[in-house]
Amino acid sequence: CGGGGGGAHRGSAGGDARCAAYGGEHPMRSAQDTRQAASEIVADLRRILAARGRSIRIMEVCGTHTHEIFRLGIRKLLSPYMELVSGPGCPVCVTPVAFIDEALWLAQERGVTVCTFGDLLRVPGSSETLSDARARGADVRVVYSPYDAYEYAAANKDKEVAFLAVGFETTTPGACIAVAAAASASLTNFSLLTANKTMPQAYEAMRGSCDAFLYPGHVHAVSGTAVCEDLARHGMSGVVAGFTAAELITALAFIVKKTQEGKPYFVNCYPRIVRPEGSPNGRAIVERIMEPCDSQWRGLGIIAQSGMKLKKPFIDFDSRVKYSMPLIEGKENHSCRCGDVLQGKCMPTECPVFGKGCTPEHPVGACMVSGEGTCAAFYRYGGI
Ligand code: SF4
Repeated sequence: CGGGGGGAHRGSAGGDARCAAYGGEHPMRSAQDTRQAASEIVADLRRILAARGRSIRIMEVCGTHTHEIFRLGIRKLLSPYMELVSGPGCPVCVTPVAFIDEALWLAQERGVTVCTFGDLLRVPGSSETLSDARARGADVRVVYSPYDAYEYAAANKDKEVAFLAVGFETTTPGACIAVAAAASASLTNFSLLTANKTMPQAYEAMRGSCDAFLYPGHVHAVSGTAVCEDLARHGMSGVVAGFTAAELITALAFIVKKTQEGKPYFVNCYPRIVRPEGSPNGRAIVERIMEPCDSQWRGLGIIAQSGMKLKKPFIDFDSRVKYSMPLIEGKENHSCRCGDVLQGKCMPTECPVFGKGCTPEHPVGACMVSGEGTCAAFYRYGGI
């Protein structure tokens, strides 16, 4: 990485493969160089962290970061000096039980073809999963994008089709593009069941839960970095991180370096993808089709203005309105501690059913289902 910090509240780590957090003394040109530099940086970090006398608590907001940090062995390397806890950044994990129940209602009570990303199939609702319902004849289809669902609806006008729109700033533009296409084609058999969420309000809800956030790179590739800079001005530190070993170690190195300086900070350690302005096009399509609303997060309850719903001109594409859906309140499984895991309040291994009643084959909670889920990562890699 390169570039380096530009003050207490801002900075950037550039793509010239030098770690500016350590004075640019670790060139990362080849895989061998990268490994060598990484081990030197890790050794430095361990020394600094050990001398500090207290661990640094970092929240990996994004489930992909959680998995990559486990997979690369970084977690073990920096333990016990660096405490890595998970946050509410896995879209499937934060989708509430009631949303699954709503999708089941559409499929079973209204005969709607439900199109969904595969991860949601096995997320438990109050009494069953979409996969269970499909086995009993409900029309539940896995798609790879909202646009696939739109195309399926366009090609099958005798069917009512609903797409389960979950996710954050990264995936919401795709759902909006599908609605825009359906609107311009005057398609009347396509709708969205929305549970789209936005991260800034979740960061605020996590205030005080960590020393620094490892912000999700893909989210800020769309939303830009103004929100992170603003959070730093209000005392919440963090770095935007990429997903390779070098990018993750660079981001962690910046956290260590900036923590030593003792002032709130923000550093963009993923500048090859994340620009300060984000993706204006991505945001423009969302602003045209959707608007903020209160949203329920699994285990966290309702966070004001943290969700997105369709604007009035597109309300005919809202599944809840289109099918006059009654209020559906899901029943959480009280033995599942996903809510605490998603706030960094407990480790998955502290959940009484982790690895016993709850495994990836038989998940009790969403955090064990998703490929980005923290419990799945702990189960797969043997959590510490
Ligand atoms: Fe929920 Fe299973 Fe994780 Fe426990 S181990 S918190 S039941 S997903």
